[in-house]
Amino acid sequence: MDRVALHGLLAPDLVEAFAAAGVACSLPEARRLLAWGISQGRCDWDAMARPVRRPLRQAATALLDPALPEEVERVPDPVDGSLRFVFRFADGAVAEAVSIPLHKAGARSVCLSSQAGCAMGCAFCATGRLGLQRSLTAAEMVGCLVAVRSAAEAQGQRVTGVVFMGQGEPFHNYDAVIQAANVLSDPCGGRISNKAISISTVGLVAQIRRFTEEGHKFRLVISLTSAVEQRRRALLPVAGRIPLQDLAEAIAAYHHKSGRRVTVAWVLMGGVNTGEDEVEGLLRLLQDVPVRLNLIDVNDNRPGGFRRATDAERGHFRDRLRALESPVVRRYSVGSSQESACGMLATRHAQARGPMDG
Ligand code: SF4
Repeated sequence: MDRVALHGLLAPDLVEAFAAAGVACSLPEARRLLAWGISQGRCDWDAMARPVRRPLRQAATALLDPALPEEVERVPDPVDGSLRFVFRFADGAVAEAVSIPLHKAGARSVCLSSQAGCAMGCAFCATGRLGLQRSLTAAEMVGCLVAVRSAAEAQGQRVTGVVFMGQGEPFHNYDAVIQAANVLSDPCGGRISNKAISISTVGLVAQIRRFTEEGHKFRLVISLTSAVEQRRRALLPVAGRIPLQDLAEAIAAYHHKSGRRVTVAWVLMGGVNTGEDEVEGLLRLLQDVPVRLNLIDVNDNRPGGFRRATDAERGHFRDRLRALESPVVRRYSVGSSQESACGMLATRHAQARGPMDG
């Protein structure tokens, strides 16, 4: 019998997988198996707190693959308290996940990768230089979360949030990311509130529209970074091909259908995207949509020779955005004191390994 990756499944998927193997399993039984396997992170089916029938436990042992990705590196940052992991999957592909402390004591959020490498080629990003190795499966993304969660629990901490903002463009791997987010928010899966799960995109409009139509409750984050067409094309070469006006209309449509505020992320680069033309572009694009703007300092260690904005540049940019009447928040790039900010560690591992087969 071909084994099925446990961590990518919702209860109806599990019922279907058993049926395909000729084994009867009811929905309540599937929920109990998943609650044990994913929520509790256990695969000793005979020890289940609320056991299912013995033949079903035997079938679960034969059918379900509970393997987690192999942890190959773990780097703590003593300055910001983050913990960066590099995971290797069965075929040798690597990707990062980061456990980030939240304001609430003992609570952590986990930043997950959606792909090994990335096809978007953003000029300021280490992962973008690597190119796309391959997309991760839902089971691999959830497996990373389960591994990071168990490290947090060993320290008496809890994982209460997830952001799909690590390596890769989540909407370039749309189906698997939505399945992973559904498993993570499921009461028999990750048990994380869907409002505490954020999915970030560089602005793939077709997928933003699909996300809107499908009515998902997860938070949407748009990584805008420039509101000047030509500059955006230089900084985000793939996403920048999509006209900014189309992106603004997709954001507005999302807001009108969901009633939710969109978070707009802006990687702040000194002397590049802090000027008056960017302010004017932003005000024009987002004037009718309530957003929350997150300003993230580019990491000085990043490729491309970009530098952090000075306090004066950041302050001026922020002051001018008051006209948006939306919250503007400064966010910090975690791991930078250990030169392990987003994508750098996994890129080192991937480069050491060489190109993927196939
Ligand atoms: S910033 Fe994100 S979307 Fe852009 S290349 Fe890096 S991982 Fe990909």
